[in-house]
Amino acid sequence: MPELPEVETYRRLLEELLVSQSIVAFEVLDAHVLATPEEELRQALVGSTVTDTSRLGKNCFLELSTGQLLVLHFGMTGDIGAYRHDHDRPRFTRVALHLNNDLRVAFIDPRKFGRIRLASSIQAFQTEKKLGPDALDITAEELQQRLGMRKQAIKPLLLQQNIAAGLGNWIVDEVLFQARIHPERPANSLSIEHFGALYNAVQLVLTTAIRHEAVYRYFPASFLIHAREWDNSPTPETANHLNCPIHKEAVIEKTYVGGRATYTCPLCQPRYNQ
Ligand SMILES: [Zn+2]
Repeated sequence: MPELPEVETYRRLLEELLVSQSIVAFEVLDAHVLATPEEELRQALVGSTVTDTSRLGKNCFLELSTGQLLVLHFGMTGDIGAYRHDHDRPRFTRVALHLNNDLRVAFIDPRKFGRIRLASSIQAFQTEKKLGPDALDITAEELQQRLGMRKQAIKPLLLQQNIAAGLGNWIVDEVLFQARIHPERPANSLSIEHFGALYNAVQLVLTTAIRHEAVYRYFPASFLIHAREWDNSPTPETANHLNCPIHKEAVIEKTYVGGRATYTCPLCQPRYNQ
């Protein structure tokens, strides 16, 4: 599933491909991914120029010369491609923007959970979708303000997009591992030092993942991600690495917290006892 690091990687590609280009046609191959009526999208897009790109959590924004925004959400399997001729169009392209330089930019989505819509501003979209600040922008103080009084376990809170936008399941596990915090620890038991560690871990995990364009086999050996099972079976790459990267003797534990598969090191992240 495209998480914040993948979406940031797509945004950078879209920035390169689209900024300063004008859109000459809007081609819809499968209207399932449209969350704004097709004709309304076509009217806003055709003839306009993309002036900038930005991102909030897992949402990517294309700013148009008309002042409107095109919002892309990549769902479970969304991706971006570029091509020049119909016969090179990537499989599962649902929508394509045709540019004045003859390039075409594809919104690819095999499972069709992605969505494309218009918004009037990032602020309006953020309010409508009840999104918190982007996870890369949130400060240690904001984390403490938003979480420090909450009695619930820290992991499900970090997954709530209204607290920080863009933290998905494996990212939160990695953040809590790097910050040495047990995922079921009540948020209101965390100290100011814990929130500092949490902030540092969010920055470390997201910037590392973005630097490696979300290809996790390139992540540092000190990351928990190498001990995760994907799709409930160990991949050949990870099958031999199910021990803690810090404590070779400790076996990573898999549990469920708030219904989500959760990986922890029993030595790095001891259970919290009041
Ligand atoms: Zn450990």
